[in-house]
Order: sequence, then C-alpha cells, then structure tokens
Amino acid sequence: MRDIEISFLPQERQDKDAIVAKCARLCGVTKEKIAHIEPLRRSIDARGGKISFKYKVEVYLKGDKPFVPYSIPPYQMCDKGEDVIIIGAGPAGLFAALTLLQRGKCPIILERGKDVHERKRDTALLSLQQVVNPDSNYCFGEGGAGCFSDGKLYTRSTKKGDIREVLHQLVMFGADPSIMIDAHPHIGSNKLPQIIEQIRKCIISHGGSIHFNTRVTDLIQDGENKFSKRWRVVAQEKEFTAKSVILATGHSAKDIYSLFYEKGWEIEAKGFALGVRAEHPQQLINDIQYHGKYIKSLPAAEYSLVSQVDGRGVFSFCMCPGGLLLPSSTAPGEVLLNGMSNSMRNSPWANAGIVTSIEPEDVEGFDEWGPLKVLKFQESVERKIFLHNGGTLKAPAQRMVDFCKDKLSNDLPATSYKPGAYSAKLSEILPEGVYSRLRKAFPLFDKKMRGYYTSQSLLLAVESRTSSPVRIPRDPETLQHISLANLYPCGEGAGYSGGIVSSALDGINVARRV
Ligand SMILES: Cc1cc2nc3c(=O)[nH]c(=O)nc-3n(C[C@H](O)[C@H](O)[C@H](O)COP(=O)(O)OP(=O)(O)OC[C@H]3O[C@@H](n4cnc5c(N)ncnc54)[C@H](O)[C@@H]3O)c2cc1C
Repeated sequence: MRDIEISFLPQERQDKDAIVAKCARLCGVTKEKIAHIEPLRRSIDARGGKISFKYKVEVYLKGDKPFVPYSIPPYQMCDKGEDVIIIGAGPAGLFAALTLLQRGKCPIILERGKDVHERKRDTALLSLQQVVNPDSNYCFGEGGAGCFSDGKLYTRSTKKGDIREVLHQLVMFGADPSIMIDAHPHIGSNKLPQIIEQIRKCIISHGGSIHFNTRVTDLIQDGENKFSKRWRVVAQEKEFTAKSVILATGHSAKDIYSLFYEKGWEIEAKGFALGVRAEHPQQLINDIQYHGKYIKSLPAAEYSLVSQVDGRGVFSFCMCPGGLLLPSSTAPGEVLLNGMSNSMRNSPWANAGIVTSIEPEDVEGFDEWGPLKVLKFQESVERKIFLHNGGTLKAPAQRMVDFCKDKLSNDLPATSYKPGAYSAKLSEILPEGVYSRLRKAFPLFDKKMRGYYTSQSLLLAVESRTSSPVRIPRDPETLQHISLANLYPCGEGAGYSGGIVSSALDGINVARRV
C-alpha cells in the first residue's frame, strides 16, 4: 500500500480512469497491477495564482494486504428496560441516540420543536413575515441549529474523537460520500432535512422514540440512593422517567439555564464571541481567492480570517459561500443573524460572522445575574436592536468602509437578509470594545485578502449566538454534571462543543459514558 498525492488542473478530467492512470504512473506500475485506490482527502490549492485539485490517496497493489473499508458497529433493536432520555434533537442528541442504539439501549428523545418538515413552514414565516415561534425556528426543532445551515462539517476539535464516525453515518443516511474526503466538507440546507429524517426513521425502527412539541420544563431526581435514583423529566403536562438523562438543548435554551439557576444547580458564566455578519458579492470573493481565474466548475470560494487587535483576536466565523442571511431569533423581541447555504452554494452573496470574544470579566452591569451574567448581556444587545428598529426583525446595517469611518451609509447594497436592513451607525449599537476592534480589523483583513475591505460589503448586526454564554460543568471522567448523578450535559448548550461535527462527537462520547 502506498500513500501518494496527485493533482489536476481544473480543466483536466478527474474521473476514476484519470485517477487510476495517474496513480499507476506515479507508482511505476501498469493499471492492471492496481487492486484498489482509496481517496483520503481532496482539496483545492489556489496559492500563487495557480489553481489545482489535490488528492491524497492510498494505492493498494495486487498482492498487498487487502483494503478494509471503514465501518462502525451496527445499530441494534433496543431493550425497553434500558431507556435513556435525551433532551434535544440537534446533532449532539441525535448522535447520542445512534450511539446508544449501537449498544442496545433505548433513546427517548424529547424535542421542543416540530419535525423537520413542519419546521420549514415556521422558518419561512420567520423570514417572510417576521413571526417568531419560540419552539420552532432556525435554532429549535428536529435537527437542531445545524439543520438549516451551510452544513459545514469541518472541525478543529479533532481530539474529541474520530470525525469519520460522524461523516460515515451522515453518508449512511444519505449525504454525498464526497464529504468523507473533502478538506472542507459541507452538505447544505436543501439536503440536511432528508438526512435528519432518515436518522429519525432509523432511531424509531430500532425501538427508540422521538417526541416533538415536547418542551422540557422541569427535571426532578427521585430515589433514596445512587442505585435507586431516577430522573423525572417534566415537559409541560407530560412526564418521562429514566435513570439517565442526556441534556443536549443547545446554546439558545435560555429556559434550561434559568431552571438550573433557580434550582441552585451549578452553572458557570462563559465567554462567547460577538460582532456582525459581513456580506460581500460572492463574485468578489471568487476573484480574490482564485486570483481572477474563477471558472464555473470551481466551488464558490471560502475565506477564513483572523487578526489580533488590542490584545484580542477578531476572526471570521461560520463563513457561508454562496449563502443567505437568516433571522436567527428564538424569541420575540430580539434581533440576531446567522448564515446558511444550499449544497450548490450558488447565491450571489458570501457572508461570514466577523466577531471578537467577550469574556465574563468584560461584562459590566450584570453581576446580579451571577452565572447568567454573560447570557443577560448577550440578550441585552439582541433586544437593543429590536428596540432600535422600532420592534421588527430588520437589521441595522452599514457599508464596511462607512463602518470603519463611523459614518452613516447614504444607501445600502442589496442583501440576502429577507426581513430587510436599514442604515444605522453600528457604533451606537455594538458594545464599545467590539466596535473599536472590528473597525481596526477590516483594513487589516485587506492585507491578507486584497479587496476584502470594500464599500460593496454590507455589515449587519448582530452576530451573537456563536457559542454558549453558559457552561453546565461536568466531571471530565464520567461526563456527568459535577453534582447531579446520571445527568449528562452534552453538546454546545453545555459549553463543551461548537459546530455540527464537534457537537455530534460530544453526543457520541456522552452516550458511551452512559
Ligand atoms: C443558521 C445556523 C447555521 C449554522 N451553520 C453551521 C455550519 O455550517 N456548520 C457547523 O458546524 N455549525 C453550524 N451552526 C452551529 C451548529 O448548528 C451548532 O453548533 C450545533 O447544532 C449544536 O448542536 P447541539 O446538538 O449541541 O445543539 P442544537 O443543535 O442547538 O440542538 C438543541 C436542540 O434542543 C432542543 N431544545 C432546546 N431546549 C429544549 C427543551 N427545553 N426541551 C426540549 N428540547 C429542547 C432545540 O429545539 C434543539 O433542537 C449553525 C447554526 C445556525 C443557527
């Protein structure tokens, strides 16, 4: 077996025959000697203005040790006496459920929102008529926050586990197999719902259950000792019981944090990042990243930027090439944005969060809220915008150059944000430390991506749900809450992951501990 790298120009054929021919040449053998070629990674290299597709592959020759495909343990019919309650059907909750099934344990998923198809109607109402359903929106409902997103599947948290375990299962449920090898895999909002539906069907067909429209409102632990203790999970009028509960409610479940606070259970204030969404014409980003050599067969260009300003990083977050901006509110009375794209990434816009970190010690005026102080600060920024614009989901916006000059924009370029944008000085809306860092960062970004700092770019406020502002602490070994036996805080809401893949991996890890 040999590890080799091959590359192709965009205009060259990259089909199976062309790959076999190149591998044979590089290995110095005839095509007939090759038993199997396993692609490991595919990336685009546009450095120095020369564009090429690079493949890293394993070549197995006849007579070598045979290739063994990657596999995972099968899902089993579950034993009803071994129920585990999972609160939240986002990536963390769903992958926890699949992992329990591999061990024959029965997941009972409680989800405040609706199934993925009904949820689509509510997200359309949110975008087009600005109606916010607090249980069904771009963050809440089957599939969680990652369901209507760009579906980016790369993560830096490789220490959490084997990323292939997540990608492989997504492929089993219908994702394109190319996600297994792409350097920056993504699925897209048009494809994710069908995949989520297949995951649900698998869970139910193996004996698990999913209860929609079931918002958990209380958690009560009954029993005398650690062996007889059981959790009673109250969801409005319904009640469910099990020995173990996986709490995977995401970073927007403020009512869950409030429940912990009111009960005096340990939670901690946690830093997060805040800023704006920057929207450029995708054509401009293509021109910059492909050095003016973009052709239609190339994917819409991405970018990732970071600069140090006044001792803190300002960085791009959740970049969506060929994407759209979304109203990401989870309750009436707040304005915040996020981004998504379809699998083709073919809208005329490129958007990304441009954010800087807010640490608990930066937050002033909210100390009375103790561990909820960062959450209350985040809430205050989102509410301020709602009040600023007269009580709608319209986003205050400014051209990038005007933003840096602190000048009101006379007019605004077209935006993909359906509720609309209005001209405003963002310096009057963003926290001072955030505004002052961002205005210095944009010209610095231009040194890394010439043309990025431009009046063609629109900045819209606010990007605020980058990660959880609260941590629900857990024991590093058992992954149980530090003082509540058999309660497993999990995923982004617990403060232990960020993004689809890292949350799915956290779900897998927690389920294994259960
Ligand atoms: C618009 C958008 C685009 C994004 N794009 C990407 C991307 O391209 N790539 C990426 O890696 N990440 C992306 N993210 C972030 C990613 O979606 C999250 O990091 C990930 O979904 C977190 O997974 P989770 O399972 O921990 O929580 P969540 O996905 O937030 O799921 C939590 C679930 O719990 C449910 N819930 C909450 N409270 C209760 C309750 N009281 N009772 C019952 N159920 C409850 C919610 O309805 C929700 O379904 C995006 C997020 C958004 C909003």
